[in-house]
Amino acid sequence: MQQLVILGATGSIGLSTLKVVSEHSERYQVLALTADTNVAGMLELCNRFQPKYVVMANVEAAAELRQRLPSHLKGIEVLSGQAALAEIAGHGDADIVMAAIVGAAGLLPTLAAVRAGKTVLLANKEALIMAGSLFMQEVRHSGARLLPVDSEHNAIFQCLPASLQQAVSRHQLQTDSLSSHSISKLMLTASGGPFLQRPLHEFATITPAEAIAHPNWDMGQKISVDSATMMNKGLEFIEAHWLFQCPVDAIEVVIHPQSVIHSMVQYTDGSVIAQLGQPDMCTPIAYALAYPERISTSVPALDFSRMSELSFSGADKKRFPNLYLAIEACRYGQAATTALNAANEVAVAAFLQHRLAFNDIARLNEQVLEKMATNSAKDLEHILAIDEQARQLAQQQLGALSK
Ligand code: NAD
Ligand code: MG
Repeated sequence: MQQLVILGATGSIGLSTLKVVSEHSERYQVLALTADTNVAGMLELCNRFQPKYVVMANVEAAAELRQRLPSHLKGIEVLSGQAALAEIAGHGDADIVMAAIVGAAGLLPTLAAVRAGKTVLLANKEALIMAGSLFMQEVRHSGARLLPVDSEHNAIFQCLPASLQQAVSRHQLQTDSLSSHSISKLMLTASGGPFLQRPLHEFATITPAEAIAHPNWDMGQKISVDSATMMNKGLEFIEAHWLFQCPVDAIEVVIHPQSVIHSMVQYTDGSVIAQLGQPDMCTPIAYALAYPERISTSVPALDFSRMSELSFSGADKKRFPNLYLAIEACRYGQAATTALNAANEVAVAAFLQHRLAFNDIARLNEQVLEKMATNSAKDLEHILAIDEQARQLAQQQLGALSK
């Protein structure tokens, strides 16, 4: 029986993880669940999964949850705050930690799980965008095992030879590991989001409701907006760079609106190996949970007789400037990607609150990136300082843009 901690249990990835887990209760037991403020959601999860521990990042939410737990669940220990999140992520009884907090808030708890040598299932891509080099060094030194959950990276992982999978998950990669395994390119597929066909002159008036209505995937709000601007693919580009130690020029983004191929690996003999499936996160979650075995999910098989077309194209710079900003940041290095991530979190939150136009998300990101790209980020302290500085700068620019 493996003991599981889910960071971000009330979110889209957290709930999909619990769905897979509930279909395999002979293999997995829920040790701890965490969330930020969603008391009602957590209460329901406590009823269904009866974890030993719950952490609410928000102190008032924890107090409310303690009060609302029915008497037969009063044995659940409810903790709160950042230190408790990190403590639970590295808990001595935990075997597997699902890192599914959204945004920069996920970095420290995910790092705590890595430092404690856990098997870490990584959905929280922002942790790698902010601290890729440091994060991967910690994986190597702590003996943790890192398995990608993001569907594209999970697909690429599935398309690698077994020896290379081992090296990726333990971060025992050299700078030439991909080429020495005859890999010439990693190809990230992207749906293009809801605005792939929208006339560019209408972009200025795109509303949050339109942006979070993704055509293929059902996800949290932040990643849905990132998918609409294609910043999500930009963040995934950086994620692939760190996870697979892949040179920037060997990563290609391909728009594939049907989201059937989840990503591909191109080999030097001309072969391209792809992973296909329904756009349902239960598949990559199940793969990461059971690796190197496979377990069943309720995701229906692909029906090729009903699939009329798989199409592909490149990503237009005018339509998706955020993608290219992220690639530029990846070339600059750690400070640039940290600053871009922070600016984007501020921009997306402001857009969702109707305080920033859709087009201005990229403008804000570009302004912050321009000012901060050449900073240096050597250690965690630097990284957190750059994150904070970029947020402040973004807030200032926000005032100017929203006028
Ligand atoms: P979500 O918004 O649905 O859920 C986020 C979870 O994090 C919630 O449980 C919330 O309570 C918790 N949380 C939010 N802010 C917090 C804070 N400050 N401190 C502690 N906990 C906090 O998000 P999601 O769509 O599930 O995405 C989670 C992560 O997985 C993101 O990094 C996203 O990029 C990544 N991801 C998601 C999908 C998807 O299909 N949803 C796919 C690939 C990768
Ligand atoms: Mg993805």
